[in-house]
Amino acid sequence: MAVTFTVLGSGSAGNCTVISSSRTQILVDAGLSCRETVRRMRRAGLDPERTDAVLVTHEHTDHVNGVERLSRVLKVPVYMSAGTYEGWRCWARDKSKPDTLPRREEFQSGIGFNVGDIQVLPFTVPHDTNDPVGFTFVVEGVKLGLTTDLGCIPRNVVEALRGCKLLMIESNHDLEMLRTGPYPWPVKQRVMSRVGHLSNEALAEFFSNEYDNCAAYVVLAHLSEQNNHPEVARRAAQRALRCADSEPSAAKAGYADPVPVPGTSSLLLASQDEGLNSIIL
Ligand SMILES: [Zn+2]
Ligand SMILES: [Zn+2]
Repeated sequence: MAVTFTVLGSGSAGNCTVISSSRTQILVDAGLSCRETVRRMRRAGLDPERTDAVLVTHEHTDHVNGVERLSRVLKVPVYMSAGTYEGWRCWARDKSKPDTLPRREEFQSGIGFNVGDIQVLPFTVPHDTNDPVGFTFVVEGVKLGLTTDLGCIPRNVVEALRGCKLLMIESNHDLEMLRTGPYPWPVKQRVMSRVGHLSNEALAEFFSNEYDNCAAYVVLAHLSEQNNHPEVARRAAQRALRCADSEPSAAKAGYADPVPVPGTSSLLLASQDEGLNSIIL
């Protein structure tokens, strides 16, 4: 069996992604209820019983809602940083939910670890929680990157995402739609801040100027239902990726270096209700 990448749901109502090798299966975030996660896994042809671990990026509800119950039902450890664990416990107490996990593994941002045969590297992202991270994975020799919930893309994130064959990244809002949209001003300010969420425009800037164009698949994720539209996000990313493609790479790299072939990446969108069908790598 090959490497598969399946999004069960993406957005402020719940995030969950499944990454599988032939031997190992992990969930990244558990923002859907346990029942809904299991239902969507079966719908996608995945066996929930095969799951080895749940990894958590940060303690916001849309990333942890089902974590405690999933860890009990599937009898798997939950990997989170110490800061995220503390944040999660406060969140659980606030919601009058159980605040202990049957098995917890702690990781530190910047320090790699393995779950089965999947290599994981958490990296710090700017977001308004205790210790938020994105992840890169190396699965059967293929590097994948996953990062949502980040207000901007600092240098360490650019570096972490180099060489990914699949890149799932946030394209949260269109700045103009957010500005003129229905959110109260303090919420708009929070979303727009450097520890909020990534706009289509900020992502386009990354694609045009700093992205290495390595991915065969680029997945736009965590789209706002109020302040974005799939076609608006797609167009912004497409334009920027095309512009990155058309750069005179030969001149930049020197004629002897291999030149990336333009237009090879597939641009896909992960949705809240449907997620994204399995990508087989
Ligand atoms: Zn989120
Ligand atoms: Zn968040």
